[in-house]
Amino acid sequence: MSIVDGTLHTAPLGGPALPQERRLVTPLPGPRSQELLARKAAAVAAGVGHTVPVAAVAAGGGVVVDADGNSLIDLGAGIAVTTVGNAHPRVVEAVQAQVAQFTHTCFMISPYESYVAVAEALNRVTPGDHEKKSALFNSGAEAVENAVKIARKHTGKQAVVAFDHGYHGRTNLTMALTAKSMPYKSGFGPFAPEIYRAPLSYPYRDGLSGPEAARRSISLIEKQIGADNLAAVIIEPIPGEGGFIVPAEGFLPAIMDWCRANDVVFIADEVQTGFGRTGAMFASEHEGIVPDLITTAKGIAGGLPLAAVTGRADIMDASHAGGLGGTYGGNPIACAAAVATIDAFENDGLIERAQEVGAILTERLRALQASDPRVGDVRGRGAMVAAEFVDPATGEPDAALTAKVAKAAIAEGVIVLTCGTYGNVIRFLPPLSIPDALLREGLDIVAEALANA
Ligand code: PMP
Repeated sequence: MSIVDGTLHTAPLGGPALPQERRLVTPLPGPRSQELLARKAAAVAAGVGHTVPVAAVAAGGGVVVDADGNSLIDLGAGIAVTTVGNAHPRVVEAVQAQVAQFTHTCFMISPYESYVAVAEALNRVTPGDHEKKSALFNSGAEAVENAVKIARKHTGKQAVVAFDHGYHGRTNLTMALTAKSMPYKSGFGPFAPEIYRAPLSYPYRDGLSGPEAARRSISLIEKQIGADNLAAVIIEPIPGEGGFIVPAEGFLPAIMDWCRANDVVFIADEVQTGFGRTGAMFASEHEGIVPDLITTAKGIAGGLPLAAVTGRADIMDASHAGGLGGTYGGNPIACAAAVATIDAFENDGLIERAQEVGAILTERLRALQASDPRVGDVRGRGAMVAAEFVDPATGEPDAALTAKVAKAAIAEGVIVLTCGTYGNVIRFLPPLSIPDALLREGLDIVAEALANA
C-alpha cells in the first residue's frame, strides 16, 4: 500500500496541497529569504545555526516551499521529525480541535485524557509485551535526562555508559553522554560526572563481528567501571548524528544480555530511529531487542514537541511522586498530535512505506557506490540510510567532499543533512509522504553534485 500518489499532494496523503515538484525560481537564498536571514543574524543567537538558507513558509508531502516561491525536495524531514508528513491532515485536525478546547492545564495539576492515551499507545507499540509505563516530556534530551534519573533511582547506582558516536542532546547531562565535541560540547563544560564511554560496533571501520565488538565493550565496562557501580547503559540502536552506523549483528543483543545479567538498566535511545523510520516501529525490533527503557521524541507527534520515556513498570515506578515531570511535559496539543500520528503509523501502512522508501534509497546509493569509489559505505535500515564519503586511496574520511556535495545539492533545491563523527556522511531521512519520483529526483541531484565535486 502506498500513501502517496502523483504530483499534487492532497489530504489525506500528508500535508497541504502543494505541488510535488522541485522548482527554483531564484538562486538560494532568494531576496525574501535573504531578508529573513539578515533579521535572523541580527536577532537570533549565533550559536543557533542553519543548514538550508531559505525562509520556509509551507511544507508537505516531500517539499519545503520558501518565501520566494522556491520548492525544495525534503530529504531530511526536519531531522527525522515529520516522518508522517509535514502538516499531516490528521495531525492538523487533532491540533485544531485541541487548541480550541484548552491549551494547557499542566498535567501535574489537572490531568487530561490525551496524555494518558499517548502513554497507553507507547506502552502498546514499544517492544515487549511486559507491563510498561510512560512519562512524557518536551524534547529528546529531556527524555534522555529522565531515563537516566529513573535508572539511577531504580538501581541505587550512579554510573552511566554511553558509546562512541553517540548523540543524546545538548543539555548538561546529555552533552556528557554525547560523544562528539565540535559543535555539541566544545567550550560548554564542565560536564556531568559518572559518565563513561565504550566503543561501538562500526563494521565498516573496525571489521569486528557483533559478538567480538560487544566483548571489547563489556571488557572495558567491567574493568573501568564495574557493574556494581553502573546504573545504565544508553545506546542508539543506530546512531543518528554519529553517522547512521548499523552495529554488526549480535552487538546489541550481547550488550543487552550483559545488562540483564548485571542489574544494569538497558536504555535504547530511539529518539531518531523510532516511529517507523527504520522500517519497523522501533529499530530495536530488527534484532529482537526489548529495552528496559526506551526514549522517544522527534517522529512521535508529527512535528509538535513531545518526548517520552517508556519502559518496565517496576523501573518506571521507582521515582517518588513529584520526582518526574515539568510544566509543559505532555502538553495537550502535542499529545493530540501524537495520538493522531501514532494512529497513522498503525493504520496507514507507514511501516511498509518506510521499507519502500528504504529500498529506493538503498538501490540508488548502492549504484552510486559501485560507480564511485569515494562512496565508501552505504548503510542504514528502512528510510534511514546514509552514504559515507572517503578518500579512495586511504579510506580516510573526506569531510570536505561531503560538505561540498551537500552544499551543491542544497543549492540545487534538495535538502540533505550531513552527520558522522568525522563529518563525512550524508544521511537520508525523507518524510514518508514523499512521492517516489521526487525522492528519485532528489537522489539524482545528489549523484550529480558528487560527480561535479
Ligand atoms: N537522542 C537522539 C538519538 C537524537 O537524535 C537527538 C536529536 N538529534 C536527541 C537525543 C536530542 O533530541 P532533542 O533535540 O529533541 O533534544
